[in-house]
Amino acid sequence: MRPSTPIPGRLPAVAIVGRPNVGKSTLMNRILGRREAIVAEQPGVTRDRKEMSASWQGREFTVVDTGGWLPPRAGGNASMDAKVSAQSERSMAEADVVVVVVDSQAGITGDDEGVAGRLRGRAGPVLVAVNKVDDESHGNLIWEFVGLGLGDPFPVSALHGRGVGDLLDAVMAALPEQEPPGRSGAEDNPGTGNDPGAGGSSPSVSVSIVGRPNAGKSTLFNRLIGDDRSVVHDQPGTTRDAIDTVVQTELGPIRFVDTAGMRRRARIDEAAEYYSLLRALSAVDRSDIALLVVDATVGVTHQDQRLAERIDAAGCPVVVLLNKWDRLDTEARGAIAFDIDRRLHFLGEAPVLRISALSGKGLGRLLPELRGVIAEYRRRVPTQAVNRVLRDAQAAHPAPDGARVLYATQGATDPPTFTLFANRTLPRTYLRYLEHRIRDAFDLGSVPVKLRVRRR
Ligand code: GDP
Ligand code: GDP
Repeated sequence: MRPSTPIPGRLPAVAIVGRPNVGKSTLMNRILGRREAIVAEQPGVTRDRKEMSASWQGREFTVVDTGGWLPPRAGGNASMDAKVSAQSERSMAEADVVVVVVDSQAGITGDDEGVAGRLRGRAGPVLVAVNKVDDESHGNLIWEFVGLGLGDPFPVSALHGRGVGDLLDAVMAALPEQEPPGRSGAEDNPGTGNDPGAGGSSPSVSVSIVGRPNAGKSTLFNRLIGDDRSVVHDQPGTTRDAIDTVVQTELGPIRFVDTAGMRRRARIDEAAEYYSLLRALSAVDRSDIALLVVDATVGVTHQDQRLAERIDAAGCPVVVLLNKWDRLDTEARGAIAFDIDRRLHFLGEAPVLRISALSGKGLGRLLPELRGVIAEYRRRVPTQAVNRVLRDAQAAHPAPDGARVLYATQGATDPPTFTLFANRTLPRTYLRYLEHRIRDAFDLGSVPVKLRVRRR
């Protein structure tokens, strides 16, 4: 789900919900890095709605405890339930992201289903944290929770901190975007341009390096950053920390997303493949471009295909890197071209580079390819052309009640954002129609498009 527009002057809010005793308070403490909420063996002890501020990846947000909210049900303590519910309903409605916590050891209960049912209709993002996954052997317990219908679950152990970093990465990716000063829409949202990382220079392009364990991601990353091993800081309270690395290049600053694991040799175990997929997806959500590293000595596997499909579905442009090319003989080199056609055909025009991360061979072409992809993502559409498309769209299908877009301009890029000046409020459905017309007219493909409406 795409992040929404930020509300000026307010920290984004993350609500933690779930039935009693699944570990919400423990998770909050873990996120806050201190013991603030009450943890008790007795179900339902944390009653008050609590809001506390926390930060991750340098971004501040509030965490809201919803006090064990449950949908009303027969036989409950009516007055107590009603009081807690009203408060919690409001917290949930106001939250930018909702994290629903469930207990891996208990499986899906009726109350979990009630909570999930209530959240499935929500407009904003909802993440499922499967708690009490205390070690690797519990990893397979999480699949049951796909059945809640709220997307891929995140395995965590609130008690030990395991997986909480990955969960927070995903929460950050789902929060409304911050707008760096001067980049876009300053006239629309005064006072929200407070991205601490922007520092007035050109905004960095975010790039994630993803692929199967052992494909050569760390080797590639270390080669790309050279000797510049800056910005290492550990976030206390989590086992796995997300650290981005910003590197100056001739294209301007490039932010490599979630590079913590690439600084040391990653451990490889049975769950590694699974965790690396989850982690890759959350990294992709935070990036403008994904580099998909494929181990060419193994070929394009089903897992590579699955990852590529997800990157594609997220609307993230991708560059495919066939790594370890140095180890292939002529026959193998021919075979892999066939693999690409068969398994990655849906990526269409995505650049494919043959490289050796170990020797650096073939990497000279990477920056020029990135430049091309970035240009597309940052495309600017001439004002005249936007207005022509909107005029035609409105002629074919006028908005109800005499509402009309008078004039439009592309206020920002990455992603392309258009400001529409209208004589009155436009219905949502009509905006979606206009969005489609703009997308089609300018070949914006799967790049997300934003529309802002201002009354004139
Ligand atoms: P809440 O009612 O949902 O807020 O749950 P609490 O945070 O009070 O936790 C309920 C119980 O589950 C407590 O006994 C916690 O110690 C325990 N607990 C919480 N997280 C974990 C975890 O990751 N692993 C295990 N084994 N127990 C946990
Ligand atoms: P990661 O798990 O994706 O981060 O993979 P690593 O970067 O740790 O690489 C896994 C193994 O492949 C290591 O032994 C690397 O030395 C090796 N490797 C990485 N890139 C290349 C390459 O281009 N050629 C060869 N021959 N080996 C490579």
